Amino acid sequence: MSSAVADCVFCKIVAGEIPCQRVFENEHVLAFLDINPLSEGHTVVIPKVHAERLEGLDASQTAELARCFGTLATKLMQATGAGAYNVLQNNGALAGQVVPHVHFHLIPRRPDDGLGYRWNAKQAPPEELENLRARIEAVS
Ligand code: AMP
Repeated sequence: MSSAVADCVFCKIVAGEIPCQRVFENEHVLAFLDINPLSEGHTVVIPKVHAERLEGLDASQTAELARCFGTLATKLMQATGAGAYNVLQNNGALAGQVVPHVHFHLIPRRPDDGLGYRWNAKQAPPEELENLRARIEAVS
């Protein structure tokens, strides 16, 4: 039985109702070039089954996505000449998710791509980390 959601743009791509530039496909996964790429070769990797966010997939569905990352990244870098890449995955509008169908971005990187890299980390006190770890552990 199909899990497709009628107004989901990625479900429509899976169904062939919206065209895409497909770079990888198997029974579970489809990868295609992003229509608004951050860099040359920017690719979106999706499960064929519909789930809005990562926690909506079961472990085997998530594993099927991850299984293709290495091979796909190698192909994208060889095809574009990029020497590095980011894997990005947004869950929820607050985290930047626009299309509510699970997807991973594979983004080839080159020195002159102008994308930059921001990682605004702050050091956390050890007792704060210990307290947080205990709270996480307590969630069943
Ligand atoms: P996100 O902000 O993580 O939800 O990213 C959604 C991505 O899907 C964006 O990078 C869009 O450019 C891309 N996208 C949306 N519609 C299409 C489409 N029809 N074909 C290819 N990429 C798309």
